Order: sequence, then C-alpha cells, then structure tokens
Amino acid sequence: MTDETLLQRENSEYWSRRGFLRAATGAAVAAGVSAVAAAQQTKPNAADDVQLSQIHAATEQPEKIPGPFESRDQRTGFAIVGLGRLALGQILPAMAKSKYCKPVALVSGDRAKAQKIAAQYGIPAGSIYDYTTYDQLAKNPAVQVIYIVLPNSMHAEYTIRGAKAGKHILCEKPMATTAHDCQRMIDACNAAGVKLMIAYRSQYEANDVALVKMIRAGRFGKLRQIVATNSQNQGDPSQWRLKKALAGGGCMPDVGVYCLNAARFLSNEEPYEVQASVVQPKDDPRFTEVESSCQFIARFPSGLVALCNSGYDAHKSQFLRVEGVEGWAEMHPAFAYTGIKLQYSKLVEGEEILHAPAIEEKDQFAAEMDHMALCVQQNLRPHTPGEEGLQDQIVTDAIYESAKTGRAVKIPAPKAPTRGPEPSAG
Ligand code: NAD
Repeated sequence: MTDETLLQRENSEYWSRRGFLRAATGAAVAAGVSAVAAAQQTKPNAADDVQLSQIHAATEQPEKIPGPFESRDQRTGFAIVGLGRLALGQILPAMAKSKYCKPVALVSGDRAKAQKIAAQYGIPAGSIYDYTTYDQLAKNPAVQVIYIVLPNSMHAEYTIRGAKAGKHILCEKPMATTAHDCQRMIDACNAAGVKLMIAYRSQYEANDVALVKMIRAGRFGKLRQIVATNSQNQGDPSQWRLKKALAGGGCMPDVGVYCLNAARFLSNEEPYEVQASVVQPKDDPRFTEVESSCQFIARFPSGLVALCNSGYDAHKSQFLRVEGVEGWAEMHPAFAYTGIKLQYSKLVEGEEILHAPAIEEKDQFAAEMDHMALCVQQNLRPHTPGEEGLQDQIVTDAIYESAKTGRAVKIPAPKAPTRGPEPSAG
C-alpha cells in the first residue's frame, strides 16, 4: 500500500471512528468556542441547516444562525508549519470559526507538542511532520494548503519546498527578509502552478474592508494624509524577533509593515519615495542587532503622504487615521486581533457629524483562511498574492536605505497591480 493510500485510509478511518463532531468540539473548546457553535460547523451540508422559529416581534433584529458551513469532506485541508504563538493562539482556534477550512496536518520540530495539539484538533498522528520530513507532505492528499508560520527568514525555504511538493501556500507576513527571496517564492509557486497568498489579515478584517469601500466611494474626498503607528514593548532579548538573520530587521518588518501595507491598500496607490529614520539604542541589550523604532514618510503620486511609526520599546499602541479633503476616519485600536474600532467624521449641512458604525466583529484569521480556501476551490487569484508582499519588502528596503543615508529614496512602480480582486463578503 502506498503512503498516499495509507494516509487517505487513516484520515477517513479517523473521521468515521471519532466523528467530526467530537474533533471539531475539541478544537472549538480549545478555541473558546462553545460545543453548540462547533456542532453547527459539523452539518453535513447546507440543506440540512437547522431553522429555528423567530420568537421576537418583527420590530426586533431577526436572530441569525451562522453558516451554512461546509461539511468536513468539502473543506480545504491546511497543514500548519511552526507551532508557536500565532499558530496556537490564533490560527488553529480560527479554524473552528472558518467556513471552508480544516486543519489536517502539523509540522513542528517538537513531536510531543505536535502530538498534543494533533489530539486537540483531531489530526491523525500520521499527519505530523518535522522539518526534515516536511517534503513528504507531497504524499498527503488531505493537504491542499500549507500555512507557513515560521520566523521570517524561513518563509522562503518552506514556501519553495512546499510549492515543489505541489501544495498551495499561505505565508505569514512579512513575506520574507529580502526582495530576492520574495521573488524566488513567487517564481517557485508559478513554476509549480500553485497559489501563493500572504497572510495580510487586516485586508480581510471587517472594519478595514468597510473603510476601503468608503474611501473608494469618495466619502472623504481626495486623500491627503495617512497617519499610523504600531508599537509594542519587547521583553526577552534572546527571541528570534530581535535577531537580524531570522527577523530581517526589528519593529519595521514585524509591526511597521501593518502601517505601510494599510497606507498602500487604503489609498490603492504605490509610494514613489520614502524618507525614514530608525533608532537603535547602544545601551539596550534587546537592540544589539535591530532597530527599536522606525519612522517613515511615504509619498504617493496623488500627493497623499503617509506618516508612519513603529516601535519595539513603547507600550502597545495601535492607531490609524485617514485624512481626506472632505472628512476623516480613524481606527483606534487599529491592527489588533480583536476590538478594532472605526469612526469617521464628515460635515453634513454645516454640522460636523461623528459616526461610529456598528460593524460585526468577525475573526480576521478565519476570514483570511476562508479567502485562501475559496481561491483554491474556485481557482482565483488571491487578494494578497506574493506580489503584495514583495512590494512591501521593496519599500521596507528603501526605508532602511533612507535611514542609513539620510536621503529620500525613490521606489520604482510595480509593473502590474499587486493585489487580486477584493475578497467576497463570504
Ligand atoms: P513564535 O516564535 O511564537 O513561533 C515560531 C515557531 O517557529 C515556533 O514554534 C518555533 O519552534 C519555530 N521555529 C522553527 N525554527 C525556528 C528557529 N530557527 N528559530 C526560532 N523558531 C523556530 O513566533 P510567532 O509569533 O508565531 O510568529 C511566526 C510568524 O508569524 C512570523 O513570521 C510573524 O511575523 C508572524 N506573525 C503574524 C502575526 C499576524 O497577526 N498576522 C502575528 C504574530 C506573528
């Protein structure tokens, strides 16, 4: 019996033995989701959706049952590579909130940890890999997408090996640590005929999606300034985030990239020039290799200017403001996993009106993974493909060059749009 047939059998036996309900419930409990919500995700198909009678008056908002969700068999299978904070804290729990995704394999250097997590999420033991057996994912038909959640400089190697294994790739931000690596990742995925998406969760987050729509509809008039900050205070000086070889830089590629990417996708323009400074204190053991803060100005062809700041040595602070000729919008916090708040102002008949729209909070990671699954299922170009990550890296390189030379640095315009179609409301 081939590896492939064995795995197929192991998968189907596993699911018929334990049932998806139990596995999904385990995952949902780990995610803090109720067993009822998990059970709603186990419905075999939309036609079997349970309908409840409405008990409130017609003047009340109707109750909504989430879904329909796809049955386990129809969901896209994800292998999660790297079982660190993001994978365990956000990505795996978000699977239980997704409509189209399921975790089917894990890749980790720590087998005991992977076994515990596999048991929680109903992943068969035969679908646990390490970094040397990673390429054997090629023989696992349950895996359609590899989600890379490793330190930044490892993204290129695992994307290229994953593409060679014939799998679609969802890769965490920042895409890599050099533009050369970003291009190699794009080329490898193109050569293998697989999709490459960069996990820019903000572009799938409900408040950001609403703000993009308002800007495109001209609600704030011509954009003049975007002001953004994203800071957090790092502790452990030995962590990979503070090592240049693994992280590529300090706060800029990790959290500053949110400000840069937001300025690009909100304006739908590409900066032609940046001017930047970085701070790297000599007396702080955390910053022997990378910057503690980064400030940059990005100039766009329409005259729009983005003023962005990021820090690794200031208390958590996440803010974004868009200023147009006819109004402004801000998110405070911006870029957060939850609790993002959007408000905007506009002059109406001589009165400055402040709006705080009620936007239903949805899990950004579930939305982002569902987008990837739909792109695979329907053969679509992702909204945030490799080209989107490459452009951020090109601008990041220009930011570092400007900080080093003290001069403004020009950025060539990308040859083609870096983003695919807007994600559907899902
Ligand atoms: P982490 O340190 O918590 O986890 C990294 C994982 O990689 C660990 O399981 C570690 O064991 C493994 N690993 C393998 N080889 C390693 C090596 N040589 N050195 C260090 N670790 C190694 O990091 P994280 O916070 O989960 O970040 C992982 C990726 O996700 C990064 O690219 C980061 O930028 C990105 N990230 C994205 C978001 C987001 O909101 N989208 C948030 C956090 C992190």
